[in-house]
Amino acid sequence: MYSHLLPEFVVERREDRCIRCRACERQCPNGVHVYDSDLDTMFSLEENCVGCQRCAVICPTNALSVRHHPAEYRKNSSWTRDRFQNLKKQAETGGVVLTGSGNDKSYRIYWDHLVLNASQVTNPSIDPLREPMELKTFIGRKPDTLKINMEDGEPRVESELHPNLELETPIVFSAMSYGAISYRAYKSLARAAKESGTLFNTGEGGLPAEMRAEFGSNAVVQCASGRFGVDKDYLNSAAMLEIKIGQGAKPGIGGHLPGEKVAEHIAVTRMIPRGTDALSPAPQHDIYSIEDLSMLIYALKEATNYEKPVSVKVAAVHNVAAIASGIVRAGADIVAIDGLRGGTGAAPLATRDNVGIPMELALAAVDKRLRDEGIRNKCSILAASGIRCSSDVIKAIALGADAVYIGTAALVAMGCTLCQKCYTGKCAWGICTQDPYLVKRLNPEISTQRLVNLLSGWSHEIKEMLGGMGINAVESLRGNREHLRGIGLQEWELNTLGVKGAGE
Ligand code: SF4
Ligand code: SF4
Repeated sequence: MYSHLLPEFVVERREDRCIRCRACERQCPNGVHVYDSDLDTMFSLEENCVGCQRCAVICPTNALSVRHHPAEYRKNSSWTRDRFQNLKKQAETGGVVLTGSGNDKSYRIYWDHLVLNASQVTNPSIDPLREPMELKTFIGRKPDTLKINMEDGEPRVESELHPNLELETPIVFSAMSYGAISYRAYKSLARAAKESGTLFNTGEGGLPAEMRAEFGSNAVVQCASGRFGVDKDYLNSAAMLEIKIGQGAKPGIGGHLPGEKVAEHIAVTRMIPRGTDALSPAPQHDIYSIEDLSMLIYALKEATNYEKPVSVKVAAVHNVAAIASGIVRAGADIVAIDGLRGGTGAAPLATRDNVGIPMELALAAVDKRLRDEGIRNKCSILAASGIRCSSDVIKAIALGADAVYIGTAALVAMGCTLCQKCYTGKCAWGICTQDPYLVKRLNPEISTQRLVNLLSGWSHEIKEMLGGMGINAVESLRGNREHLRGIGLQEWELNTLGVKGAGE
């Protein structure tokens, strides 16, 4: 069928710079660049370009620029270019429009409407270069009270203590499964987590056996609806367990890793036959109530001798505060909330862009509800989706998070340019692909270093901002909305966030 789609990108090549090295031809996984030997020239099939910028970065003479295609339909506020293109795609294929990465729509980003406080005159600021500044974060259920017995002269804690994890920084890598991302990308996350004293999350793809001894103590292992790779050894090798109920990028629907991506090692790790589609159902088929959830939480605790905290991850949906309350009462030690901008390897566009609520509002609502009910100390809150920089982290903590999950930011640190074509398996940066030629593009040593640098840079900035507020420990900021003010927000938004307007 003749396609009615306009090209999305235009590929411009400066002839005065191009030396015909053909690096762009080798690097483009979509076959855009072609060398014509008769004319000794390069030309571009730009209708195939996805805007990943790999060729522009690799070109040794900076001859290439890849831009949005200037072709326009007649201006129409209702029928935007994206709507046109997606409708035409469906008319041509009859299928669901798929996408990758997170929601890119212009919904309000609340981080950009919140500003932080700083000390002036009284309560002086603290210089983190000269004075101690604590980013240590403890993840897990805390006791209601702490009973200390001093009878023998030595303090002895008598209260029952629940398993807690000690992190060097309140930033954790979020769930990205082996299969959705390459082994090198997955291992880079594991190594960076270990080096930085934090955690990575296996997603629903299992934890390769050869990684368990070295990286298990930095791993959050998921128990998702497909139960891929889940057995007692997998659970016991980890630092923390996570029951995945929902995901911000696609609340209410399951996942699908196509059979062609299920190579031998992925198949062994997931405990499924090689080459079969890995389909995870929308619901957990044994959970239809809070009581069922509680049974799974305690089954996991039982299997791991009550030594590991158990998290329950849900998508931020309309009644997320009530759901979180139920999760805590069901026995979870951590509630992970994944908001509207959560990333994914593959999701239907309609779901990604229209289902769920922004994490900032969900986080504030959950923290408030748990405080109002007197159960906030019974869990830690992990906030996920749309964390782009250190100030987003610190604002999330002031809104009530104990720590944040970062996914897209970690991928960008490794090379991702958010072309949103993860689902095609042709990631030009070697991250979201199993193609043996493409995966070699990611150097695991370099990508590990880039991730470690990211966490280190953000952690320094967090210390600076904490010091500026006169706070010397990140724990003291948690849920402290007095350090936030809203700008350009409506009354209902300020109320939901629990923050005052700037100037108040
Ligand atoms: S990589 Fe750059 S210099 Fe080499 S052929 Fe392509 S456009 Fe020309
Ligand atoms: S798909 Fe990526 S590598 Fe290929 S032409 Fe477009 S920007 Fe360059």
